[in-house]
Amino acid sequence: MPSHDLTPDEFRRIGYQVIDWIADYRSTVDQRRVQPDVAPGWVRARLPDKLPEHGEPFGQLLSDLDEVIVPATTHWQHPSFYGYFPGNASLASVLGDMLSGGLGVQGMLWSTSPACTELEQHVTDQLADAMGMPASFTTADGGGGMITEAASSANLVALLAALHRASPQWQDAGVDRSEVVYVSTHTHSSLDKAVRIAGLGANAVRVVDVDPTTGAMLPEALDAAIIADLAAGRRPVMVCTTVGTTSTGAIDPIRAIGEVCAPHGVWVHVDAAWAGVAAVCPEHQGMLDGLELADSICTDAHKWLLTAFDCTLLWTRRPRVLANGLAVAPEYLRNAASASGEVVDYRDWQIPLGRRFRALKLWATLRTFGLEGLREHIRRHVAMACELADWIRDDQTFELGAPPSLALVCLRVRTGRGVEADNEATRAVMERVNATGDAFLTHTVVDGRYLIRVAIGVPTTERHHIQALWQALQAAATA
Ligand code: PLP
Repeated sequence: MPSHDLTPDEFRRIGYQVIDWIADYRSTVDQRRVQPDVAPGWVRARLPDKLPEHGEPFGQLLSDLDEVIVPATTHWQHPSFYGYFPGNASLASVLGDMLSGGLGVQGMLWSTSPACTELEQHVTDQLADAMGMPASFTTADGGGGMITEAASSANLVALLAALHRASPQWQDAGVDRSEVVYVSTHTHSSLDKAVRIAGLGANAVRVVDVDPTTGAMLPEALDAAIIADLAAGRRPVMVCTTVGTTSTGAIDPIRAIGEVCAPHGVWVHVDAAWAGVAAVCPEHQGMLDGLELADSICTDAHKWLLTAFDCTLLWTRRPRVLANGLAVAPEYLRNAASASGEVVDYRDWQIPLGRRFRALKLWATLRTFGLEGLREHIRRHVAMACELADWIRDDQTFELGAPPSLALVCLRVRTGRGVEADNEATRAVMERVNATGDAFLTHTVVDGRYLIRVAIGVPTTERHHIQALWQALQAAATA
């Protein structure tokens, strides 16, 4: 029976075509609309209903990519993409990802590929050091990091570890509905999902007030909430602090929150999905002040640290609690290395069993850029955001909607006719800019105020792109 796969020689030949295709795409992506102009169903209407009965030449896929896929793609690597948070996919990391696919490794256990586990330990240790994190989050000092697919998963894993610490009988008896999880009004929605998945129910979520100006969680409000819950016989399990909230980039004070939680043994998780990686720059490490009081922290290398999706980093000072909380040991996974206790089996640190060799693409990124390159990448965006914020401060039509944070700037139109009119005008401006296809922006609503978010973070974004965006915003406001 002949193999239908490509032979290594065919792979080499077609592989070069694929690399050429990606290189061409990246070098011309700035000539495309950032967001496609297609109606729902456009893609499916152009694809055959049935799978091919017989294998097809690979070249046909490449032409479908040009004709069907790219015209309906939102170009996250476009220099004028400012939506959500960035999804950096440096070409170095794309190659690293290819190598991972080429090795075809499944790293659920140390023994299913020692290199997969140990490289992951190594790069997470090195990155923790580069980000100025306390040594207690590294393997040398009893902690450790891992790579998972999303900050949402990391947040769920942290919650499960916290539940395990709060009540080790949780594994047998499940939750007893006395558990409380503390978030702020700005915490990412993945925490609501994590609470649901963990079976706690939305009633377990206590929403702590934030400072109205900075959007940061108020430690004294958290303290009062914990004390009230304890008095009512409830069990405070975890507080999720955020470094770089999704709406406005607000930064919760980890130290003060850690001090509130310490006497009660509440797990402190830091969700630094977007902003955390900026700590590779010493001048931004202050946002992690007090991290030694936290139990876990996650940040996404696939957002702003140049690594192709998916690459979330999760570190904990308490790997044993985390792994004991999730460990299951069916006979078919038992092996001598695991039994020796000398190795880490990352399947115990995550929800799925199987895992990709994600460390390779991160390693490719870190080695290609070097720390100097990573810092330059972050600093360029922060500098552009500062300049944009200055233009907004000096402007009559727009105003800042929140204090600028790193490379995130929130702005809104001021009409002088009240909040509703401002909201309507701001929404209209964003829609007009997006309709041109020249830039892509997304929004948030904070305290009833509609804000345009400008999340600067694509590696190819230059100052002239920000100038063009500013002109487009001005034009849209006067249209
Ligand atoms: N946490 C925060 C603060 C975020 O901003 C985001 C996404 O923007 C997430 C979590 C979810 O990230 P992921 O897509 O990696 O699950």
